[in-house]
Formats: sequence, C-alpha cells, structure tokens
Amino acid sequence: MAFELPPLSYEYNGLEPHIDEQTMRIHHDKHHQAYITKANAALEGHTDLESMSVEDLLRGADQLPDSIHKALNNNAGGHSNHSIFWSLMKPGGGGAPAGDLAAAIDKTFGSFDGFKEKFAAAAAGQFGSGWAWLSLNAAGQLVVEGFANQDSPYTKQYEPLLGLDVWEHAYYLKYQNRRPDYISAFWNVVNWDAVAERFATARK
Ligand code: MN
Repeated sequence: MAFELPPLSYEYNGLEPHIDEQTMRIHHDKHHQAYITKANAALEGHTDLESMSVEDLLRGADQLPDSIHKALNNNAGGHSNHSIFWSLMKPGGGGAPAGDLAAAIDKTFGSFDGFKEKFAAAAAGQFGSGWAWLSLNAAGQLVVEGFANQDSPYTKQYEPLLGLDVWEHAYYLKYQNRRPDYISAFWNVVNWDAVAERFATARK
C-alpha cells in the first residue's frame, strides 16, 4: 500500500490570519506530496516494508539497510510529521489543554506558560530546518525537543503529541525571517482536543 496524501479536515484558508492560504496550499499539496512520492519510490520493491505503517517503519528505521535508511528517514519522516501537524491545528483553535494532558504539562513544566516557553525556545532555537515536538518518551515522560530536518520522534521510540514545522517553507511567505512571530501565531490554531487524544492513545 503506497502512502497517500491525507486531505486537510479544514479549508486552506481556515487557519488565516495566523497561517495563510497560499502557504497551506503549497505546504500541503506540494511539499507534503513530495515527501510521499519520494517515500513511495524508496519503498518500491521492498515488499517486506511496503505493508508497514509509517509509524512502524520509523520506529524500526535504524535497523534498515543504509541504502534505504536515509531516504525513509527524510521522506517517511516528512510524511508522518506533516500528517500529524495538519491534524493538530484547526480554525478557531488555541486556548489551553484540559484534563489529564493539562495536569501532565503542569507537572512536567510547572505550568502551561512554562511549557509554551520551552516549546517556543525549541522551535526558535532549531538551527536551520526542522521541528519542535512535544512527545511522550519511552519512560512515559513528556519531553520537548528540537528535531533536525524531517527526523521523526518515532525513530527515538517517542510518541509525538504536538509538533511545529519550522522549515522556512512553513512560514516564509507570510513571516519572512520572523520565525518567532510564526511561533507565537501557532498557539492560536492548536487543536488541543486532538493533542489530548494523541496523549490518551500514547499512554495506553
Ligand atoms: Mn513542512
């Protein structure tokens, strides 16, 4: 089963004014699609791998032969990261998490503001292209880390919960060099219900 581009569950302009329509169109239809096309090409002929989910592929990526490891890290990683990213945003999002996720964030980072500060610092401090992720690590702890390029939290046996793409293609049309403004705007579109759902699933 070849990977396919998942449709957005909202309109391309649904995240305006925080993330603009043109960026969403190019980012989703062109950039995400390119990762999928390249991941599918890398998998061609590897019948043992073709049937695996993208998550399982990434969890086992370090065991793959060198000939395919890098291509999958970049492109299956890119597919997975972007699929999660779209699902974690929504029109009229923002606010704060509730329930178990809010309690875990308070316990780990002191407060929601403490978490936001740490996440924003990881996103702003990621040198060059990459992502900031809130994940659940293998010990069941919340962690915030920057990841280079399309490196996936799954390759570290983490369960990714909330991620922010800080590649220039994610913000340059609207924000140019002002990555911190894009990071601040992101909080207005986060779908905390979706993050909480990922947290609940990850803990099972
Ligand atoms: Mn991207």
